[in-house]
Amino acid sequence: MTNYKVGIFGATGAVGQKFIRLLEEHPWFTINALGASERSAGKKYSEAANWIESSPMPGAISELIVRDCLSSEFNDVDFVFSGLDASVATEIEGEFARSGIPVISNAKNYRTDPTVPLLVPEVNPDHISLIDGQTFTQDNSGWIVTNPNCVVVPLSMTLKPLQDQYGIKSVILTSMQAISGAGYPGVPSLDILGNVIPLIGGEEPKIHAEPMKILATMSEGGLKHADFPIQATATRVPVINGHMLSVVVGLEKKPKSIEEVETLIKEWKSPIAGMGLPSAPEYPIHLFEDGRYPQPRLHADSENGMQTAMGRLRMSNVLDIAFVAMAHNTVRGAAGGAILNAELLVKKGYIK
Ligand code: NAP
Repeated sequence: MTNYKVGIFGATGAVGQKFIRLLEEHPWFTINALGASERSAGKKYSEAANWIESSPMPGAISELIVRDCLSSEFNDVDFVFSGLDASVATEIEGEFARSGIPVISNAKNYRTDPTVPLLVPEVNPDHISLIDGQTFTQDNSGWIVTNPNCVVVPLSMTLKPLQDQYGIKSVILTSMQAISGAGYPGVPSLDILGNVIPLIGGEEPKIHAEPMKILATMSEGGLKHADFPIQATATRVPVINGHMLSVVVGLEKKPKSIEEVETLIKEWKSPIAGMGLPSAPEYPIHLFEDGRYPQPRLHADSENGMQTAMGRLRMSNVLDIAFVAMAHNTVRGAAGGAILNAELLVKKGYIK
């Protein structure tokens, strides 16, 4: 397998640091360039970043000089991962794509563009071909692929088997989101310690909209979005990593029993199983039968943080079924998800 040289935007932030840690020993991708704001550009990475990962900063990375996020400064990379702040992602990611450098982004800015895949490899790998309709460059050498909001990853992973088998009518959910989801320095300690904050600004509209695109079916005319209402309440809780969701689902076709749904989840096969993608979890969804699980502190790191945990599966008194879902927000919900996207893009021949 070829080794690809990669750049990281937002390298000093929470997601950028997670990229650095996850790519440290990656068999296909080597970090060649780091970009951040003008506050950090020109400094050695060890001076620019306030390192919040628990493992030490990799030695070679600490010596790299942080660059401005301009394509002229990144002509030594095959593609870039972006963990940029949304306030600057439209301009910077667009400029790179127009310069022929592919961008694999965590930022929300291009997620709703009808030609940009909003990719969860286990759910909608066929959406990759949307790239062919992008017009950033004439020869399509520059393009953008996004991954979804960190709540939407475990939500769409767990809804996918249900949608395929029964059809989804409606969803009500409450998210209990970890502090690391707010970046660094994030939520003030006086707000979050011993507390729950019942609103995360801007989060609920993303949770309502993004699953419709991810669960869309591909046809010649483009995507046909899923169409069911989601009512989300997004809360912040004093957990470091791992977003937990309490989900209640109304189904078009009624399951005969909860055991039937359990079997469906346990026997569900990921469409990327067996492709040899280094970051793909062996078991993308793990269903716990013990009602005490999953718990963020115990299970957010399962399968290197790439597994979605599910539990408390039961019939609902109000809609049809209820369960909890949980995934590591900065790994599966951000950097790890983007790396898995890149691996699939290599396999499909989009990254050359
Ligand atoms: P963060 O810790 O606040 O980091 C933001 C990064 O953006 C920093 O590296 C910062 O560089 C850089 N930046 C800010 N202004 C810039 C500019 N004008 N030009 C170039 N770079 C600039 O945020 P985060 O949590 O890592 O999130 C990064 C992105 O991923 C956001 O779009 C977020 O919504 C998305 N995301 C986050 C999560 C999560 O769980 N945290 C999950 C999914 C998606 P400086 O240090 O130089 O200021």
